[in-house]
Amino acid sequence: MSQVKTILKTHFGFDEFRLDQEKIISAVLQKKDVVALMPTGGGKSLCFQIPTLVFPGLTVVISPLIAFMRDQVSALKLNGIPAAFLNSTLTWSEESKVLSAVREKRLKLLYLAPERFFARESQFLEFLQSIDVSLFAIDEAHCISQWGHDFRPEYLRLSVLKHTFPTVPVIALTATADILTRQDILEKLNLNRPEVFISSFDRKNIHYFIEAKKDARQKLLEYLTKHRSDSGIIYALSRQSVEDLAGELEKKGYSVKPYHAGLPKDIRDANQDLFIQDKIKIIVATIAFGMGIDKSNVRYVIHMDMPKNIESYYQETGRAGRDGLKSDAILFYNPGDVMKLKSFAQIEGNFKQTEILTQKLNQMARFCESRTSCRRKYLLNYLGENHPGNCASCDACLTQYEKVDGTVNAQKALSAVNQLRGSYGLNYVIDFLRGSKSLKMKEPHKKMQGYASGALLSKEEWRSLLHEMIEMGYLAQEGEYPTLRLTPKSASVMRNEEKVMLIKFVARQSVSESEIPHETGLLNILKALRLDLARKASVPAYLVFSDATLIELSSYLPDSMDDLKLISGFGEAKLKQYGAIFLEALKSYCREHHLISRIHEKKGKKTFAKKISTPAGPSLTKQETLRLFKSGKPIQAIAHERDLSPSTIEGHLADFVLDGTLKVEQLVSREKVVLIADAAKRIGGEWLAPIKSDLGERASYGEIRVVLNHLKWVKLN
Ligand code: ADP
Ligand code: ZN
Repeated sequence: MSQVKTILKTHFGFDEFRLDQEKIISAVLQKKDVVALMPTGGGKSLCFQIPTLVFPGLTVVISPLIAFMRDQVSALKLNGIPAAFLNSTLTWSEESKVLSAVREKRLKLLYLAPERFFARESQFLEFLQSIDVSLFAIDEAHCISQWGHDFRPEYLRLSVLKHTFPTVPVIALTATADILTRQDILEKLNLNRPEVFISSFDRKNIHYFIEAKKDARQKLLEYLTKHRSDSGIIYALSRQSVEDLAGELEKKGYSVKPYHAGLPKDIRDANQDLFIQDKIKIIVATIAFGMGIDKSNVRYVIHMDMPKNIESYYQETGRAGRDGLKSDAILFYNPGDVMKLKSFAQIEGNFKQTEILTQKLNQMARFCESRTSCRRKYLLNYLGENHPGNCASCDACLTQYEKVDGTVNAQKALSAVNQLRGSYGLNYVIDFLRGSKSLKMKEPHKKMQGYASGALLSKEEWRSLLHEMIEMGYLAQEGEYPTLRLTPKSASVMRNEEKVMLIKFVARQSVSESEIPHETGLLNILKALRLDLARKASVPAYLVFSDATLIELSSYLPDSMDDLKLISGFGEAKLKQYGAIFLEALKSYCREHHLISRIHEKKGKKTFAKKISTPAGPSLTKQETLRLFKSGKPIQAIAHERDLSPSTIEGHLADFVLDGTLKVEQLVSREKVVLIADAAKRIGGEWLAPIKSDLGERASYGEIRVVLNHLKWVKLN
């Protein structure tokens, strides 16, 4: 194994590098200057932490965020890597302790804020020159750009870094997706012919949903009921709506706190800490919240109101799922929001700026309005990346629509727009069509032929019809106070030469389970254990182990210290500190529930693929599952009744396919059998994970397991 891969495993407990990590690390090790653009959760920290462990001297990390520094240092210490930070929260004596540790070469990483860097007339720079610095890492490098959302003037001074330390390599990292900002970083940092790495910004584990805002509260509550044990962020536009919603949720028994700029700083900070430490599950916030939030187990981000542009939407939703597990981004959309936000986009005396902001707002609105084109594709195209669409994990891709003939109503709408001479906005046209008695309705209009010609449709129905017609180009919406106008495509519809086919909702497919099948009961026990250990160590729970690690534990059920090493996240330091205690919890759960280790299923090195002896017959728990399944109960219902996860039930049933008790077609649809069998042929049918990662959302782990067992059965018979 290469040196860096060994470090990845022994210090961090991971088997594989992600995205461009390996290439970036290798460039840094060659002492090149590097700019790394990677999405949130991509794993930027390892890109400088691993070279640190190879280089002889100190790595200095410049970061603008105090909370982030603290958490990174805790995380490093948990992995047995000596690190410290310097910032305004330290006392004088704490600070001098850190400085002597640096002098005595007892530290590998030192985190500090940029203002600290240049403090006391560059005294600190001189100090750094007197010690052995191997690498500078500039985190959140977009802070150097005025274009960006969090410009920090002190970052501009970092351009002197290469003058003062010409031979020390610099790595600048950011998750900014904005192209102007990216260019700015390159220009301002003054690096020495840097190598630039741009990873894909596709956040595959985030599933995007845009829902109509009608009954949003109701829909929100339904979602939250189903996700009670998960952490999430709910964004709302105004301070008042943040307060209201947080209050309402609290009354309903949720553990929730508000966050907005109107709260006193100490309360804001306290609420943020409670969230980071898993002491509350939900934070309801304005967009003031989130910068530098490193919490990896945020399972959902919900927008009660539309963000003002796609960049913000991408960034805010990006706070979900840093740990790589499936997470949801849900936005409740109402065209009315666009109007509300338009007023914010008006910058007095700055026409150009107003125009840019308005254009960005319109792009966001268009994103929300289109119901049938893949959200992920739109997002990535906007960020300058290609994507084939059909992601199978956004509302557009998961919803089946059918086409219905909407020509008659479309003609009424066109004729109304025509009669109103293209001079009125969408709402007026709707009122006109519905025969509104409102005072706003002009008297002469009430006498026109089209007035009240569409009284049978509701306001909402007209609104969605008109939006669809705009999207299809039968109508145009233009101008500062947008009015509806006819287009060249309108005429043929009015003359009855062309039909208008509308899309109608048919059904929403559910997302196939993308987590590996695991024991839910055990997972909850492990989460509680983690929280307990985290409190004792005064660190956030996700730093002890990520959710991904706990899910692997409750799936593969390792039963020895050696097997624990195979679990992602168990580096040597954590194995030593937490191995025994987790092993004990695992073993006692398995004893109680008659479960045996499934560690052989974890893709890994040959030595670990040792065969475990199969028990004499199917265990009692599996027999019970089979009985219920044969009685006609669906998997969900069996899972519910037995208080096990659906994936565990699928696992039980899959085992019966192996001995021919159940037939594959009782469990998996024909098309999927073909799909999975085909993938198994291409990739090899030994392990689940590679097939799953090839098929993505098109098949669940349970389905793959069933089909692989079926193939084995066919072979044996
Ligand atoms: P970023 O700073 O890019 O948002 P982080 O460096 O915080 O991302 O990493 C996000 C999460 O992914 C962390 O929990 C980290 O431990 C984990 N991680 C990073 N690299 C890997 C890897 N190669 N394999 C597994 N997990 C990883
Ligand atoms: Zn999609």
